[in-house]
Amino acid sequence: MYCPKCLAEYREGFTKCADCDVELLEGKPPENEPAYIDLVTVFETPDPAAFAVAESLLQAAGVDYVVQNEGTENIFPQLGAMQIQVHSAIAQKAHDILKDVDKEPPHDE
Ligand SMILES: [Zn+2]
Repeated sequence: MYCPKCLAEYREGFTKCADCDVELLEGKPPENEPAYIDLVTVFETPDPAAFAVAESLLQAAGVDYVVQNEGTENIFPQLGAMQIQVHSAIAQKAHDILKDVDKEPPHDE
């Protein structure tokens, strides 16, 4: 049994939440939403060198990030570029850090 309002768990036999005065629901309270739902892609490149630069900048700034598709570009080109994702709350900060990184490999003119 659990309270749908404050998500407190109750033993069998209780029918109302003592704190909220609302009817309890059967079962377990729902888990908190996993954090990855709020991830935002802030950097995307097919170039491993640019990717490494972006990673080192984020590490230097103490920004937590996750990597998608790392190392797969040669094996599964259809998956596209490697991506760096951060939590939406720090997406703007990450954008600012990464805005000057070249995303494309240098071209011979
Ligand atoms: Zn409650």
